[in-house]
Amino acid sequence: MAQERDYYEILGVGKTATPEELKKAYRKLAVQYHPDRNPGNKEAEDKFKELAKAYEVLSDPEKRKRYDQFGPDAFSSAAGGYGGGGGGGGFSAEDIFSQVFGGGGGGGSIFEEFFGGGRRRSPNAARHGSDLRYDLQIDFIDAVFGVDKEISIAKMSTCDACNGSGAESNSSKTTCSSCHGSGQVVMQQGFFSVSQECPRCHGTGQIIQKPCKKCNAAGQVQERKNLKVHIPPGVDTGSRLRVSGEGEGGVRGGSPGDLYVVIHVREHDLFKRHGDDIQCDLPIPLAVAVLGGTVDVPTVTGKAKMKIKEGTQNNSILRLQGKGMPSLRGGRRGDMYVKIVTEVPTSLSAEQRKALEQFNSLLQDKNNPVQSEFKRKAAPFLHGE
Ligand SMILES: [Zn+2]
Ligand SMILES: [Zn+2]
Repeated sequence: MAQERDYYEILGVGKTATPEELKKAYRKLAVQYHPDRNPGNKEAEDKFKELAKAYEVLSDPEKRKRYDQFGPDAFSSAAGGYGGGGGGGGFSAEDIFSQVFGGGGGGGSIFEEFFGGGRRRSPNAARHGSDLRYDLQIDFIDAVFGVDKEISIAKMSTCDACNGSGAESNSSKTTCSSCHGSGQVVMQQGFFSVSQECPRCHGTGQIIQKPCKKCNAAGQVQERKNLKVHIPPGVDTGSRLRVSGEGEGGVRGGSPGDLYVVIHVREHDLFKRHGDDIQCDLPIPLAVAVLGGTVDVPTVTGKAKMKIKEGTQNNSILRLQGKGMPSLRGGRRGDMYVKIVTEVPTSLSAEQRKALEQFNSLLQDKNNPVQSEFKRKAAPFLHGE
């Protein structure tokens, strides 16, 4: 690698430059050498990278201290790899660029915004209101049958006194003399002229002489609104319901945003949901599992009768068709899965105990297929002792 230029020299600042001065210098030069502005210009690209590297080091107080002490060697790849070779971690030029410009996304759009290039809005263009989100907890059973809920939301709405114009009457608005109604003023910055929002009229292009008393010229007022929301049957946690036009009010006649109600379903003691199916544990008497019979099963739509086959094993899962959740999209209703839990009787009377002992002595392996199958598999491991 060739001898590196001094980082302060690259940024065109003195050794005592404050963080603000560094940032300002970097910002100015980064704009000048930004690849978007110099397409295909290798020299500009290298300059841009060099700037980013210098700024990365000098903008970090810790790294700046090391640089002042040891010079650029402290950051070359050989000495510990502070992003020297370009391959390692650390920032890319674009990252730093967007950091300095306060943006989050790709450098391109920030660049455009900075130059007022790209899409420029007309100063008086209507602006669509923001969407709002409301998180709503509902009971499991309400998710099964649907429910109407009253919710209360705080939002910015278009001021009805001035229809969102911010002026007491339309005649009390005059064209801004700083920007002549364009909402933008041109500033000279180095070699470039930069468009900025007009500070006098805040980009609206107009000055309000008599502000609306209700909204104080904002065109919007904070309001609390009660809404009835219909929750359809079959919603689940994470379901999103759109309530059209109930978001924040638009500006200058723009349409309002939408309200999104995000559903959270509380867990139920008895029923567990898996997609559109419901699962439930069902304890049954030991004798019913052995001999078979009919049992009552609780379902979300009430009692169902279910046949238990003779010799039903513990943890068997039986299906009740169409007893699950209704489908939110109007498809077929889910099923209910019933998990059999055979109850082991406790605190037996002397008589019961005697009867069970008698039963057990009569029991032979062929009547107990699970036990005999287990014995066959386990035999090699049950010797000794
Ligand atoms: Zn108003
Ligand atoms: Zn103006």
